[in-house]
Amino acid sequence: MNQKKLPVQKNDIVTVEIEDLTHEGAGVAKIEGYALFIPNTIPGEVIEAKVLKTNKGYGFAKLLTVKEEVQSRIEPPCPIFHECGGCQIQHLNYEAQLDFKRNQVVNVLERLGGIKDVPVYPTLGMEEPWKYRNKSQVPFGERDGQLIAGFYQKRSHRIIDMDHCIIQQEENDIAIQAIKEIAARYQIKPYDEEKHRGTLRHVVVRYGKKTGELMVVLVTRGKELPHKQNIIDDIKEALPKVTSIVQNINGNKTNVIFGEKTLLLWGEEYIHDYIGDIRFAISARSFYQVNPVQTQVLYEKALEYADLKGHETVIDAYCGIGTISLFLAQKAKKVLGVEIVPEAISDAKHNARINSLDNVDFAVGEAEKVIPWWYSQGVRPEVLVVDPPRKGCDEKLLETIIQMKAERVVYVSCNPATLARDLKVLEEGGYQTKQVQPVDMFPQSTHVESVTQLTLKQ
Ligand code: SAH
Repeated sequence: MNQKKLPVQKNDIVTVEIEDLTHEGAGVAKIEGYALFIPNTIPGEVIEAKVLKTNKGYGFAKLLTVKEEVQSRIEPPCPIFHECGGCQIQHLNYEAQLDFKRNQVVNVLERLGGIKDVPVYPTLGMEEPWKYRNKSQVPFGERDGQLIAGFYQKRSHRIIDMDHCIIQQEENDIAIQAIKEIAARYQIKPYDEEKHRGTLRHVVVRYGKKTGELMVVLVTRGKELPHKQNIIDDIKEALPKVTSIVQNINGNKTNVIFGEKTLLLWGEEYIHDYIGDIRFAISARSFYQVNPVQTQVLYEKALEYADLKGHETVIDAYCGIGTISLFLAQKAKKVLGVEIVPEAISDAKHNARINSLDNVDFAVGEAEKVIPWWYSQGVRPEVLVVDPPRKGCDEKLLETIIQMKAERVVYVSCNPATLARDLKVLEEGGYQTKQVQPVDMFPQSTHVESVTQLTLKQ
């Protein structure tokens, strides 16, 4: 690689206009066609930046000063925004965040999917885009002999102490602070990642906003938890909303939070929450959407796009704990859900029971294996809903969807790039993309969620 040929060199100071934002929220400027990624900048702004690193095709620079500001720039309300990395776009006002998310969908669909002339509606946002998260997971550590708990500094494993996160529901912050005090009171040793010693690794708190039920999960390195009974009693006293205290044991050298084993210390194994009229039981390790207000908006849109009259058989692929399946079951004749994690399927079955919905069946397995098998057994759904992880749908699944000729497909996506790729395949196979609705599930972050409706071409 000949660095000399690049239009900029490391340590150069450049003045540039920001043209675009990456899906990670960094501004993009071009110098003679060479892209520079510059965090904390906004399209339309003219800025001065210092070049930090140059690769063959693109480089990175650091913002020095904003010379011409755009009106969508605001002072990030969180004092630790730049250190933390949990949020990426607090420096954009909310309206601009919603536009950014819609534009991501529009651009990626066209660029990667060749899909144009399809309505992509304005992103559905929150009235109050703060204090929305129902789950907080906080690493514990030590500094100068003091117990601390907070977040990992951006791109590092250094824990920064924190007592307030403005995207968390307040109950979560209160609970984390209380547990920090209790753990310090009994001199519980935090986990030391390097030496693989100590007791308390993470505390995870989940809160059911509609039911007021609070779960505390203490993630420990081994089974032993000194002063266990005192800790339980003090948590109950400090947090009157707590209905579930569990211990999860993770003895592995890993940055995965949970281990395999979960012990009930007090109360129930589950907390409950409602999305619409459906009640969900959520256990310590279950996947459950983190923004309950917007989850309802998302699922209602999925239900609208499914356009059910009551006679339909519906498949819900990648169903998790059956959240969308149960929503659909209120309006369909029959729903079949499939999901790869066995515990999620047992939660899904439990959730069907507690809502007295008996027109749903759940299967454990890979969607790309189970759905072709259902097809071979004569299952012919009128509607198919997919909600895959970031990597999108498996090719084999898309093939089967095309063979099945369902009248409608509803695609819930957390990644516009794989959505675009998959829509292209479905379009080539006889489906038409009708409409796309981005929904803001994660205000202040760059995550882009959307629901798409496809129908069979006539
Ligand atoms: N629809 C659910 C969950 C969506 S998350 C909700 O809204 O809550 C995506 C889910 O797909 C996860 O639960 C994950 O475990 C599951 N999954 C991942 N790969 C899979 C596969 N190949 N087949 C079936 N499920 C899969």
